[in-house]
Amino acid sequence: STQPSIQFNDGHSIPQVGLGVWQTPNDTAAMVVKTALDAGYRHVDTAAIYENESGVGEGLIASGLPRSEIFLTTKLWNDRHSFDDALTAFDQSLARLKTDYVDLFLIHWPSPHRGKYVEAWKALIRLKEEGRANSIGVSNFYPEHLERIIGETGVVPVLNQVELHPDFQQKPLREFHEKHGIKTQSWSPLGQGHLLANPVITEVAERLGKSVAQVIIRWHMEKGLIVIPKSVTPSRIVENFQVFDFELGEAATKALDALDGPGNRVGPDPMTATF
Ligand code: NAD
Repeated sequence: STQPSIQFNDGHSIPQVGLGVWQTPNDTAAMVVKTALDAGYRHVDTAAIYENESGVGEGLIASGLPRSEIFLTTKLWNDRHSFDDALTAFDQSLARLKTDYVDLFLIHWPSPHRGKYVEAWKALIRLKEEGRANSIGVSNFYPEHLERIIGETGVVPVLNQVELHPDFQQKPLREFHEKHGIKTQSWSPLGQGHLLANPVITEVAERLGKSVAQVIIRWHMEKGLIVIPKSVTPSRIVENFQVFDFELGEAATKALDALDGPGNRVGPDPMTATF
């Protein structure tokens, strides 16, 4: 029951299960992050726009773990896609996080209406060259956005973090990623909670003697996805990490696979989002 990791196209690896901290208030983030690290998590996913990087940084320190044992991701917000501003935004994130590097820096959204994500990608390439972001990637990108940054720079992101859960499986996008050596990371893996009452998954969970959240997290893992469930409740944070000692098996896998539907986004469509 050791925790698995996924290897990137740049040689670095990421622990497959991490803690998401969207909508975690800054004054709660330190406790939440320390709780997760105490429970064995070694991967935390934040963003500048979450306004909790400073609390996350406090939690990393409070854990007492060497920084090198923790995989830390943060993200560049949409209004900072200009080359110089992206570099400044990165410095500001590092200062709040109280660290001198991140393991992964992501462009949070392509924000196509701004037309500047290629410029932002060039700034991330610079940060990787400088060794201050070990790996660089993107979030909420469609294939056409990925093709553009790859075509204009030759640098392939290590992953694309996108909305993905058993009733919104993003199969065409995942196939595109596989062809290009890009890993897929699932955001809102529990469907922001709406899947926790799903009758099909509830039945599976009862049969396996696991919680619904554990069954869903296990589903992501068995698909080879990197998964970052969010909770601020210590017992749930612990529960969401107890997913390494069982398998779904064929019947449960089939039942969850059958929930897929293209209309089941819970978040905005990145192509038309106006922020
Ligand atoms: P999620 O799918 O992880 O669901 C979180 C909610 O599920 C919690 O608020 C809680 O109410 C419930 N929950 C969690 N564990 C539970 C348990 N064991 N039992 C019962 N209920 C439980 O939703 P999310 O926070 O939207 O997504 C996870 C992470 O993904 C975020 O925190 C963030 O790090 C990332 N994210 C990224 C983007 C992006 O644009 N890149 C967008 C959304 C989320």
